[in-house]
Amino acid sequence: MVGASLAGLSAARALRERGYDGRLVVIGDEPHRPYDRPPLSKEFLAGAIGEGDLALERDDEELGAEWVLGVRATGLDRTERAVRLADGREIRADGVVVATGAAARTLPGTDGLAGVHVLRTVDDARALRDDLARGGRLVVIGGGFIGAEVASTAYALGLDVTVIEAAPTPLAAPLGEVMGGVVSALHADHGVRLLCGVGVKGLSGERRVDAVLLEDGRSVPADTVVVGVGARPCVDWLEGSGVALDNGVKCGADGRTSVAGVVAVGDCANWYDPRTGIHRRVEHWTGALERPAAAVATLLAHGATEPGVPRPPYFWSDQYGVKIQFVGHAAGADSVTVEEGSTDDRSFLAVYRRAGRPVAALGMNQPRLFTRWRKQFTATAS
Ligand SMILES: Cc1cc2nc3c(=O)[nH]c(=O)nc-3n(C[C@H](O)[C@H](O)[C@H](O)COP(=O)(O)OP(=O)(O)OC[C@H]3O[C@@H](n4cnc5c(N)ncnc54)[C@H](O)[C@@H]3O)c2cc1C
Repeated sequence: MVGASLAGLSAARALRERGYDGRLVVIGDEPHRPYDRPPLSKEFLAGAIGEGDLALERDDEELGAEWVLGVRATGLDRTERAVRLADGREIRADGVVVATGAAARTLPGTDGLAGVHVLRTVDDARALRDDLARGGRLVVIGGGFIGAEVASTAYALGLDVTVIEAAPTPLAAPLGEVMGGVVSALHADHGVRLLCGVGVKGLSGERRVDAVLLEDGRSVPADTVVVGVGARPCVDWLEGSGVALDNGVKCGADGRTSVAGVVAVGDCANWYDPRTGIHRRVEHWTGALERPAAAVATLLAHGATEPGVPRPPYFWSDQYGVKIQFVGHAAGADSVTVEEGSTDDRSFLAVYRRAGRPVAALGMNQPRLFTRWRKQFTATAS
């Protein structure tokens, strides 16, 4: 397993559950045992839970794995099927699970300026939490899910918050224009400023950031800045290995890659979606939890399995006390209708359709109804 987080751990568990009793090595460049990332922008950032609460392994869990932590994988030798490590070691394997996830994108030219953060790791979250504790003005660059959650948490901590989004409507890519507008209206509901349709030219400040400079000439004062402009798959270590790369690791519908004995799972994996005939890389917790089982089955069967149809992608987000849940793909839907509740109340279930067929659904503060709908949808979509 290369990558010691949710997808790597899920793959290790799936191997043991399927009776694999051989040597299991989990390599991770972070010094930590697997921990959960979703709370990093929510309860952990708010100070409601501590680092111990983030552990993904159960207390009584014994995987019998060797943990090689704090060391980066730098290459893969496909003929020897060996993973090269930054410290010069090489680990040979019968099978390799690529689970190296994604890393936060940064803004060029902002290195070394105090008060500027990204949020991907527990170390990022700790540093941001310390800065938020100073209070003052927070500017979030990027109105995606992570940016919106940070804004919501900082608002609850009493900071003065501004969100800057380059697109005309935040969340339009995952949710479509209409529902992207409905969800991002949560900011205004809580007095958080949302500036859309304007890019960021740069940051100002000597040693510490003091403002975000916009392309239209405006300057937004800031004591702390969070750059939430998405993530890139961590696959550079596979360059030249023969593993086909295209927006992450290009995989079949069961995680198999272009190299026999190598599968990829989680945020770094661009899986083929047989429903739509295209590859999709999803950065969702549930996919990193569930999909490794199929990939590991492929690995153990030496590829002699028929790829199934992965469950439609699902994610949730918590913002301003509202639970947002989404399943399926909004792209390509030709209609979206509110089936229950109302967008004004921020409590509804909306269904996206293409040619009359449901392709996705969004729930806001409707967890039970959403879960029922998701089950039905997943059963018919598989
Ligand atoms: C702040 C935050 C909030 C989130 N909230 C939600 C949410 O509410 N709902 C939801 O559905 N999803 C959420 N997610 C997404 C979810 O956490 C990810 O989908 C999940 O963590 C993916 O797991 P992964 O194991 O594929 O990748 P990662 O968790 O990124 O783990 C990959 C690991 O591999 C390591 N690695 C990378 N390169 C190398 C290398 N060359 N050698 C060795 N190790 C390497 C990385 O350092 C990392 O430890 C959130 C993510 C973040 C960051």
